[in-house]
Amino acid sequence: MSETERDLDRVQTQVCERRREQAERDWRKNPLTKYEAELYDRLTEGDAQDRMQKIRRFEDWLLTEIAPDEPEEIGGVRDAVSHDVAHWRDNDLLRDPDLGASTTQEYLQCLKSLYARLNEVNAYAGNPTRDPLSEFRDKYEDEFDTDRPFIPFGRLQAFLAWLDRPFSRALWLLAFKLAMRKGETLNLDLRCLHIDHPVFWDVIDKHDIALDPRVRNRPDTLLVYGNFTEETEIPNDKVPGWEGPGEVRETGNKRKQDNGTVLPIDSELKTALIEWLLVRSPTYQAIVNPLFAIGADCPRRISEQGTTHRLWNSDSYIDSIQNFSAEHALSECPTCGESVIAENLKNGEKTGRRYRCRNCTATHWRPIHWDNGLETAQKVVYHQGRHTFSSAHTPANSDLHDGAIPKAVRTEAIRGDSNQQGDTEDQVYIEGQYKNFEQDVRQPYLDGIYKFDLYDDPIPAVGEGWSE
Ligand SMILES: [Zn+2]
Repeated sequence: MSETERDLDRVQTQVCERRREQAERDWRKNPLTKYEAELYDRLTEGDAQDRMQKIRRFEDWLLTEIAPDEPEEIGGVRDAVSHDVAHWRDNDLLRDPDLGASTTQEYLQCLKSLYARLNEVNAYAGNPTRDPLSEFRDKYEDEFDTDRPFIPFGRLQAFLAWLDRPFSRALWLLAFKLAMRKGETLNLDLRCLHIDHPVFWDVIDKHDIALDPRVRNRPDTLLVYGNFTEETEIPNDKVPGWEGPGEVRETGNKRKQDNGTVLPIDSELKTALIEWLLVRSPTYQAIVNPLFAIGADCPRRISEQGTTHRLWNSDSYIDSIQNFSAEHALSECPTCGESVIAENLKNGEKTGRRYRCRNCTATHWRPIHWDNGLETAQKVVYHQGRHTFSSAHTPANSDLHDGAIPKAVRTEAIRGDSNQQGDTEDQVYIEGQYKNFEQDVRQPYLDGIYKFDLYDDPIPAVGEGWSE
């Protein structure tokens, strides 16, 4: 019987098997050469070079810094273990002043891709970069958001102080004070709030609303609903037991905590929310009473698109970022009166809008800008609040304000991030860890949260001068 006939009973022919074994031997013999050839096939030359340079740096470190001290003979990347990757990360990458956190992460990711490929071709078992990379992400997560524009605190303050309407001020403050996502903000209902103030209680009484049990006994807090997708129906807010339809939501909530998050309200945010409640149209006929209801005749929850019009577009709303930008535009140099060149810097580490004079070369920085067509790093969108909240309250950046907010409070209790960043299988946030909300969440939050000084006389909040 010929080999071809025997092969009819086999899933894999012997020829195929032999060829595959030969290929695997080639990979084991020259893993980097094989990998490099693949990269050049599917990437641009520059990208392939860049990746290989990162991988070669690890190989180099392994052979020159680690191998000499090891009893076993280390001949190349296939001999590396997790400990070696961690050693490289801590002693080479993190000590290199030219590498920021996100570049360091790229080095580890390039190496991770190499090992994933070696795994597929049976040239390595497991992935030695997995733990070093996930530890690294956990430790440096706050520094990864660098594709968002950096806004100096003073310019942010100027923008918030410029806002004229309670609507925009309340919306933006929720982003900057509590790191809320846009969808989460738009999904807030009156029952999610517990603001200890007569104006609030008056609104609640008139709408016959039962506060959500999660905030009912916690004055000056608000509830962000747990995770749900768009088109989800959220039950009505009438008294428990009242039957009837709920409201189908346009946007979802991307909270990691299924049961939602209770967040503290400081005096500045409290004042902004009360100011908004004073002008908010009643929603007596609504199934669910949204916090951000608009429209005079038939007030309803503002849509995502409606929010975009109001907060950004110049033609539809006085408080838009486009209007702010336009008001602060320069047509001539304030120093010499000659013409200027406008620039929006793209670099994530040094972004911003500036005007350079063609004549005297003076540079005039201007506040935040947003426009269609700009790259992420140049735009101020709602998500900027999450970024600014994190970066400004990190110990390294505490020169921006009086204090840092502890990481567990900042990332898990307020932002609602997983405490196992980088490990998607293990998104555990245990609310029980924060058994004492006042002591474990509110107090550290109030100790660190920045103040924009928007009000001469902010309404005192719990923990900030409020008394029963
Ligand atoms: Zn000039």
